Amino acid sequence: MKIIGLTGGIGSGKSTAARFLKELGAEVIDLDKAGHEVLKKDGGVYKKVVGEFGEGILKVGGEIDRIRLGEIVFNDREALKRLNKMVHPAIDKIVESKVSKCRRKKVKVVVLEAAAMLEAEKTWQVDEIWVTISNEKAVLNRLKERSGYSETEAKKRINAQITNEERMKLADVVIRNDGTLDELEIKVKAEWEKLQGRL
Ligand code: ATP
Repeated sequence: MKIIGLTGGIGSGKSTAARFLKELGAEVIDLDKAGHEVLKKDGGVYKKVVGEFGEGILKVGGEIDRIRLGEIVFNDREALKRLNKMVHPAIDKIVESKVSKCRRKKVKVVVLEAAAMLEAEKTWQVDEIWVTISNEKAVLNRLKERSGYSETEAKKRINAQITNEERMKLADVVIRNDGTLDELEIKVKAEWEKLQGRL
């Protein structure tokens, strides 16, 4: 079984590439989604996180307001570190259990999709790193369309991440996503075909 770590900047097309890989037969584990699950009231780290950051991060009904939590850690590196220290072990557990399940099912390719995989202090047990890269103009347009961000908001988020150059240095496979969705699908398929030779 090969484990691929799929990452890339905000709006670069990770989730879309992951969807294409799923259609081709990969099992996709979304680490960002797992991160959201563990923060839920019935998730593993809810109490710890509320204890650390206070009830000010709660929405009516008691769920954690991830946007508010994001605003805190987005502006405070130490707070982000403290949050990651709580959340990462819980995500690890979910990933480990899902990967074991894939092994038992004799899945050939597992894709771990995560936005901040290369920034995380923990290195995930992946065999290859695949990175989606898009030019800034395309990302700004997508973020405006998808999330309604202004250019300033979008740029702030882009600049809070590592650069595409840094990502490319660490990548085994680079998927450029500057064209249409059809073009992205063709590129993902081509990389999938090459991967078959490495299995
Ligand atoms: P995030 O980390 O912000 O979730 P992401 O890297 O997972 O982003 P996607 O969700 O795949 O990126 O893409 C962001 C948005 O841009 C989506 O609405 C997607 O449909 C759109 N998109 C991605 N690639 C293209 C493309 N080549 N042409 C047009 N739209 C695209």
